[in-house]
Amino acid sequence: MPDRRIRLEAARLNLARIGMATPEDLRRALEQAAQVSAKTLGVSHVGVWLLSGETLCTCTVLYDTLQEGFRESEPLELSEYPAYFEALRTSRAIAADDAWKDPRTREMRASYLELAGVRAMLDVPILVAGQLVGVVCHEQVGQARAWTTEDIDFATSVADMLAVLIGQAARLRAEHALDVQEEILAEMRRMEALGRLAAGVAHDFSNVLLAISLLSQRLKLRLSEDPEGAKMAANIGSETDRGTRLVRQLLAFARQEKTTPVFVDLSEVVAGLMPLLETIVTSRHALALDTPEGPVTLRADRTQLEQIVMNLVTNARDALPDGGTIRVSVTETDENEAQLVVSDDGVGMDEETQSRVFEPFFTTKGGRGTGLGMSTVYGIVKQSNGHLELTSAPGEGTTVSIHFPRNADN
Ligand code: ADP
Ligand code: MG
Repeated sequence: MPDRRIRLEAARLNLARIGMATPEDLRRALEQAAQVSAKTLGVSHVGVWLLSGETLCTCTVLYDTLQEGFRESEPLELSEYPAYFEALRTSRAIAADDAWKDPRTREMRASYLELAGVRAMLDVPILVAGQLVGVVCHEQVGQARAWTTEDIDFATSVADMLAVLIGQAARLRAEHALDVQEEILAEMRRMEALGRLAAGVAHDFSNVLLAISLLSQRLKLRLSEDPEGAKMAANIGSETDRGTRLVRQLLAFARQEKTTPVFVDLSEVVAGLMPLLETIVTSRHALALDTPEGPVTLRADRTQLEQIVMNLVTNARDALPDGGTIRVSVTETDENEAQLVVSDDGVGMDEETQSRVFEPFFTTKGGRGTGLGMSTVYGIVKQSNGHLELTSAPGEGTTVSIHFPRNADN
């Protein structure tokens, strides 16, 4: 039958042309393949099932020729069909001319085949790198069908094509993850460069400020006869102190020196900080601390942990200008992770702010802010091999949760 052979070749070519630009295209690609295969083999349904565990097979695509469309189907638990499962693992194709009688498929007769009216099946395992990842099922409703060698060869090339598509989607996903990784790396390099710059400038700057501060004190003494002049000198002094504090924060941000991680109890660190935190917030603010019964030990630099809590609580306070509750909690998510959460139900952040919050010097607080709080937090968390999640919405408050690895080797 040369005609049929030409048709099959054309269909193979169509299959080979199915392409994907992003991993999200996989479903569409599988749908296209199922449709081509259904038309070419003239079967009632073509399903693509993917393993989503040891034995659970999920129907990803099911094309129905009669309805000329796609529909859904329940997942298939392969452990309920041991002969079929075994055949999938060991054969190139399961061509069951009469699926009700075939020893590999008859175990499905009562629970599935009769209900769906399926009488013949041509199923081919999908293998990626030698691993069974799924199966493509061609089903014939109504009567038995003698599958030809050509049918079987074609169905096998469909399965091979599907394997290529599935492998390609996995590669695209991995590449995408790498791109994201690259972006994070670039961001970290940028921060590092800024940190070095800040460290260099900050040292010179604190010397300049120290000189100004000393001079202003002497000037103030000299101006004891001139109250207005003395007040100006005092102002110079307090402005200089503000500058010094800012520089100190810059230095903290830029801190390149080795940290000293020791075993600390995160709950204890946070609890010990409470008196200091009370001085940061106003009388209109309440601090709620929630820690578990036992200690939450992790290896970390105590000062850095304190810095994180201080910065986050300061931001929460600023987000609650009319007062409110700031929650600080410590939890053991599992034996490998400790979690610190600081949340407020304050002003929150819009998306633009959220996308820039970790940027050094980014602030929405005008002259009152340094824009170094969150970038410092970010830097420390990265250094500790931890990760950070930020949830915020305008008017709904902000939650920052930090996950620390508990036995980090840093
Ligand atoms: P600063 O507090 O000096 O402005 P940060 O780096 O600590 O600098 O924070 C940067 C910006 O992120 C803040 O100016 C603010 O807009 C936003 N932000 C940080 N934390 C919160 C919060 N809890 N609620 C609302 N906005 C916040
Ligand atoms: Mg801040």
